[in-house]
Amino acid sequence: MAKVDTPICASCGRIMVPREYAVKFSCPNCSNVTIWRCERCRQFARPYRCSKCDFVGP
Ligand SMILES: [Zn+2]
Ligand SMILES: [Zn+2]
Repeated sequence: MAKVDTPICASCGRIMVPREYAVKFSCPNCSNVTIWRCERCRQFARPYRCSKCDFVGP
């Protein structure tokens, strides 16, 4: 069986739905972590936190 990495929203911790319009980007501080954000958190500009360097950003 192939291993699938399920992306989790960095803001609300919800598992991403594939059809959802989510965004992913590298952490602006350490750029080592790919941060996912769901559509809803993007809309409301909820803060996210990097799991590696604890960077918090909008
Ligand atoms: Zn979210
Ligand atoms: Zn980081």
